[in-house]
Amino acid sequence: MSEVQAMPSTPAEGTPPTTAVHVQGVSKRYGDRQAVDNVSLEIHRGEFFGLLGPNGAGKSTLVEIMEGLRRADTGSVTLFGESPWPRNTALLPRIGVQTQSSAFFVRQTAHEHLRTVAALFGASRAAVDATLDSVALTEQRDVQVESLSGGQRQRLAIASALVHGPELIFLDEPTAALDPQARRALWEVLRGLKAEGRTIVYTTHHLDEAEALCDRIAILVNGSIAVTDSPHNLVRASAAPSRLMLPLGRLDEHEAAAISGVDRVTVQGGSLVLETRTAGQVLSAVDRITGLDGVQTRTASLEDVYLDLTARLTGAPQGARRNPQNTEQQP
Ligand code: ADP
Ligand code: MG
Repeated sequence: MSEVQAMPSTPAEGTPPTTAVHVQGVSKRYGDRQAVDNVSLEIHRGEFFGLLGPNGAGKSTLVEIMEGLRRADTGSVTLFGESPWPRNTALLPRIGVQTQSSAFFVRQTAHEHLRTVAALFGASRAAVDATLDSVALTEQRDVQVESLSGGQRQRLAIASALVHGPELIFLDEPTAALDPQARRALWEVLRGLKAEGRTIVYTTHHLDEAEALCDRIAILVNGSIAVTDSPHNLVRASAAPSRLMLPLGRLDEHEAAAISGVDRVTVQGGSLVLETRTAGQVLSAVDRITGLDGVQTRTASLEDVYLDLTARLTGAPQGARRNPQNTEQQP
């Protein structure tokens, strides 16, 4: 991918960031459903930007408006200062798009499909092979698109968005259909693109992933942006407690609740879980009482921030919003 097109030089350190995507007051309504409600945001060149939010929050609609695939009712979008709507052919070589429901050329193999996409953009044969390899589809190059598994098709869709070496890449839930191994492999591809100075705008349901990859995220709830910031700042500013997990039998619930600084004690799975905002103090106390052998701690994460925020804004109970794919993270 990198050999296809040289990237325009990224701004030198210290110079203010330049804008890749500018969204100003964008709204979109379907019947009586306000899918996107007066959204404004700015994404910088070279930034890895994540759009998060519950199902139906308006993420796909917003991304498709940015891509120029849908028209906003009101407001404006520019990519590198140019409007993507109506269809702007000057922008097409500079942007890569993977939509949530991707279309493929029928009766073609993975390699033929990608070669066709590449030909549309004037990308080289070498770029096709390199891109197929980067999404680990070299072995499937001669497999018909219809015969690929869901995850393989997803990776082919991502490859189709990358093959022409675009500066700005939009990916709508690219890791949704991937198994954990393929998901991690894609992280490395995306990190590589970011390291080359490309701008990535993507949606995801994986909070751990957004925390690991994104420079900044926006959380969209009911069509509006609830917050935009770096994952680090969001977690730091949150009131979410840390959790200490003790093997059961080491302390009883009353003893644990009596420790100064412990806000709440619950039994979850095989652990006694102590919630606290003064983890150091509570750890010392636990150490004095039973020792720290087998004690695990979990500090607040982006997932806590997200669950707290979406529960408050949608009025849903927190538990109901827990992402089943992330249950391994729950204490
Ligand atoms: P997300 O990607 O966050 O799940 P979407 O942008 O797909 O959200 O959808 C936002 C809202 O708009 C949802 O209520 C959805 O049902 C509705 N919606 C999306 N696309 C259409 C459409 N083409 N026609 C009617 N309603 C739509
Ligand atoms: Mg969507």
